[in-house]
Amino acid sequence: MRGPIAVISAHACPFSEVGGAENGGMSVYIREVTARLAARGVPSVIYTRKEDAGAPGHVDLPEGCSLVHVQAGPSQPLDKDALFYHMPEFYREVARHARASDTSFELVQSHYWLSAWAGRRLGRLWGVPWVHMAHTQARVKDRDRPPGAAREADHRIAVELETVRNCNRVLASTAAEVEDLAFMYGAERDCVSVVAPGVDLERFRPVDAGPLRAELGIDAGEQVLLFTGRLERLKGVETLLRALAAIVAGEPGRRLRLLVLGEDSGNGAHESEGGERARLAALAAELGIDGRVDFLGKVAHDRLPAFYSLADVCAVPSYSESFGLVALEAQACGTPVVASRVGGLRQIVLDNITGYTIPDHDPAAYAASIRRILDDGELRATLGAAGRRLAESYSWDATADRLLAVYEDTREYYDQASESLLG
Ligand code: UDP
Repeated sequence: MRGPIAVISAHACPFSEVGGAENGGMSVYIREVTARLAARGVPSVIYTRKEDAGAPGHVDLPEGCSLVHVQAGPSQPLDKDALFYHMPEFYREVARHARASDTSFELVQSHYWLSAWAGRRLGRLWGVPWVHMAHTQARVKDRDRPPGAAREADHRIAVELETVRNCNRVLASTAAEVEDLAFMYGAERDCVSVVAPGVDLERFRPVDAGPLRAELGIDAGEQVLLFTGRLERLKGVETLLRALAAIVAGEPGRRLRLLVLGEDSGNGAHESEGGERARLAALAAELGIDGRVDFLGKVAHDRLPAFYSLADVCAVPSYSESFGLVALEAQACGTPVVASRVGGLRQIVLDNITGYTIPDHDPAAYAASIRRILDDGELRATLGAAGRRLAESYSWDATADRLLAVYEDTREYYDQASESLLG
C-alpha cells in the first residue's frame, strides 16, 4: 500500500490543543498514527472542518502528509449536533478538494460518527474501501451514563448503525469494544479488526518531577493524586473528589493534594450550568476539600510525563472508556493507576498488578485502593514497575504496523470483491 489515505476528522482538528472541547484521545491517535504510517511510506491527507477563520486552508506536514481545513458552516466551533447538519457540505468540499488537487486516494479512514457520514459517501464516490474507527459509541455511553450526563442524539445512533452495516472494516481498540459493537449495534465480527492504540514510550517514561514540584509549590512531604482528561460527567471526577474527601475525613493532617488537568469538553460545557469544571469546584468546596484540589486546566501533551511522574497515583474513574490513553501514559511513566472497571480500562489496567480496578463507581472503594498505594512505598514501586512493563507492549509503532496490515487486507478483499462483481 502506498497511499495516500484520506483521514476524515470532521469535528476536531487533530493539531489543536488537546485536553478540552472535543480534542482528546482521538486527536492524539490521529497525530501519532498518521506520522508513523507516513514513515512507513503511506502518507495521509487529514481533512477537518475549518472552525477558526484564521486557519490556513492547507498545511504541509512532514513526510508527504497534509492537513486541509474544509469550509463547512461558519468558521467557529460548533456543537456536535449542529455540526451534523453541515456534513453534506463538508463531504462536497472534501470531494471538491480531492478533484482540484488531482489526488487519488487508496482508502478512506474516518474517525468518530460525524466523519463516518462523510467517509461512507467518499468511499463510494472514489471507489475505494472505507475503514471507520468510532472511538466512542452512543449506545454504550448511554448504557453506562452517570446521573446528569446528557443523552446522545438519535441521529448519532442512526449514523452509527448505518456505519457498522456498510463499512468495509470497523476498527476496535480492544476485544471489549468488539463485543459492544456486536451486541449493541449488530456488527459482524468478521468486519471488525482490533487495533490497540499506543503510547509514545520515549516521551512517556519516569522523569525527574522535582522541577515541576517546585514550580507548583508542592513540597516533598506532600502526596499527589492526578486526574487528566476532558471534563465531563462521564469521566467520573466527582467519584474521585468524594474518595479524596473520605480519605482526609479520618485523617485531616494527611498531606495529600489532587491535581485536575483538562478543561470542559463539549458535553461538560452544557451538562451543568457553568460547565463541569465549575460544578466540580463547587462540589470540592461543599466537601470541604477545595484547599486540596487544584484545577490546572489544559496541559500540553509533552508536559504530561512530569505530571504523571510527580503523581503517587493516577485515577481514571470513567463511567465509559473505549480505551483510556491516560491510563496507559501514566503506567508508561511508572505511576500506578486506580481506574474504574469498564471498557478498555479492564484490559490496560491490571488489577492488583499495575494498579486497581474498581467496580460500581464507589468512592469508598476508590479511597481504600488509593490509600493502600499511598501508605506503602514498596507497593507503589512494584505496581509502577509492572505498569511500565505493561505499557511497553503498547507502542504507537505496533499500532501503525497492525493498522497497515488491516488496511492491506481490507484493500485486497475490496479489490477481489469488486473484480468478482464486474465478472
Ligand atoms: N490530554 C492532554 N492534556 C490535558 C488533558 C488530556 O494532552 O490537559 C491528553 C492525554 O494525555 C491523552 C488524551 O488527552 O492522550 C485523552 O485521551 P483518553 O483516551 O484518556 O480520553 P478521551 O479524550 O479519548 O476521552
